[in-house]
Amino acid sequence: MSTEYGKLYVVATPIGNLADISFRAVALLKQVDLIAAEDTRHVKMLLQHYGISNKLISLHQHNEDKASVMLLEKLRSGESIALVSDAGTPLLSDPGMPLVKMVKDAGLDVVPIPGACALIAALSAAGLPVTRFCFDGFSPRTSSARKSYFQERLSHPSTWVFYESSHRVLASLQDMAEIIPLDRQIVIARELTKLHETIVKASLGDALELVEQNDNMRKGEFVVIVDGAAVDKKEQIITDEQKRILSALLRECSIKSAVAMAVEITGAKKKALYQAALDMQKVKEAAI
Ligand code: SAM
Repeated sequence: MSTEYGKLYVVATPIGNLADISFRAVALLKQVDLIAAEDTRHVKMLLQHYGISNKLISLHQHNEDKASVMLLEKLRSGESIALVSDAGTPLLSDPGMPLVKMVKDAGLDVVPIPGACALIAALSAAGLPVTRFCFDGFSPRTSSARKSYFQERLSHPSTWVFYESSHRVLASLQDMAEIIPLDRQIVIARELTKLHETIVKASLGDALELVEQNDNMRKGEFVVIVDGAAVDKKEQIITDEQKRILSALLRECSIKSAVAMAVEITGAKKKALYQAALDMQKVKEAAI
């Protein structure tokens, strides 16, 4: 890439403990011409801590399309820009995607400056398989949407992860318990890198009880990790297409007939289809 253009640096910042930032990130935040930050007041605390004074511009979810156009022009005129969010790695459930896409599409350089990320920190200490995992960002806000989300993930063979807020963590686990078997292992990673860091690995049933009974377990920031559906039960896993057919049949006939027809049509195991039909029924009833 031509050196006459500036570069966009995507800089990870701490998710709690201010020491969790790389030497390279600190040096870069001093050197760049401009820092684009999700919340300029918030980032000032970090900058002050490291003795950095630099020009700041805000780039948040409500202005990022417009701000990205302006920042691309600055890069084209040779300025270098660091993109930071309030915590962790930008773009991960944080602003920045439109800017990075625009800069890449324009053929200019985007350079990652890696560091903290709540998702990765939680996974690294969870003790659940990480060879393959699925990250879903924040869980849906409403109970019915959450139940559909958990239903979608029920038979997912890999570990899955979502971000959760303190306001919804209990409701979210309660919804999960209606869909996911209570003996499934989950990890609740709370307040990572902070004073009250707590990482609990337990069955869904036990974890739910803990969150219900312990007020502190409903405070702070959360990452929830769920073990994938057991590999030795793989023959009981049905595909999305098989589920779609079953769901259509369930709209027209009884569970028994729908399952019998779905076995004929899809070739999936009767037991798996029957369980899926019961689960769908549960979600339907819960949504009423
Ligand atoms: N970009 C960030 C990252 O790299 O992790 C995530 C930003 S997202 C807006 C904020 C959410 O991430 C929180 O609601 C929480 O679910 C999770 N999170 C952030 N910091 C955390 C921490 N210290 N401990 C646990 N979860 C955290």
